[in-house]
Amino acid sequence: MPVETMVQLSEIEFRYPVGGFALRIPLLEVARGESVAVIGPSGSGKTTLLQLIAGISLPASGTVTTNGTAVNLLDDAARREFRIQNLGLVFQEFELLEYLSVLDNVLLPYRIHPRLTLDSGVRARALALAECVGVSSKLDRKARKLSQGEKQRAAVCRALIAEPRLLLADEPTGNLDPDNKQRVLDILFEQASDSHSTLIVVTHDRDLLDRFERVIDVKEFHADRGKS
Ligand code: ADP
Ligand code: MG
Repeated sequence: MPVETMVQLSEIEFRYPVGGFALRIPLLEVARGESVAVIGPSGSGKTTLLQLIAGISLPASGTVTTNGTAVNLLDDAARREFRIQNLGLVFQEFELLEYLSVLDNVLLPYRIHPRLTLDSGVRARALALAECVGVSSKLDRKARKLSQGEKQRAAVCRALIAEPRLLLADEPTGNLDPDNKQRVLDILFEQASDSHSTLIVVTHDRDLLDRFERVIDVKEFHADRGKS
């Protein structure tokens, strides 16, 4: 795989054990530094695709290579470690720790990972990110006392704090008004460009697609595609 490739999914077959939803991905490559939007109606497999790229879900066959590592060959612990080292994840359900403050949620990667050192530079970065997305006045508030839109923006800050090589964001603007949508997109693109990282964003917002270099419709990976 060329070094300029950040993500490569090859000969992937994936099926949920219950319900039978399946994806077949002959080849999907995303270059380093590329920005890609993933689209498709609700239930079409966008989140599943991100989970395959992140090594959260495992294919029945094929390989998922991210930043040079075949993630589907790693065991659970090594995959978790790989995610912490390489990925910034914004989940659809945010997955903030409700009993922690916004600041502690943003700094969480540094609290749980011994190899990340929490210093004054990191704290300053957390404040700057919060400022950019408009949650700086909420830093001391517990996550459970935030609106959905504020939680979403805090989750974006947490995904960006450790300057990941690959950013995977699942509908990161889904709960936001138009101004905040643009703000969140601005910061995702700005951070990706500053740290030369790759951006893969699931979105329903047709009006945001122009900002991406490429759009992938997950329907092209439906396993029963072309059959009647
Ligand atoms: P999207 O993100 O595009 O809305 P998902 O990737 O979440 O779609 O889901 C794709 C399909 O897989 C849906 O039909 C959904 O019901 C199904 N699905 C999602 N998660 C699971 C699961 N854990 N087990 C079984 N089926 C699932
Ligand atoms: Mg989804």
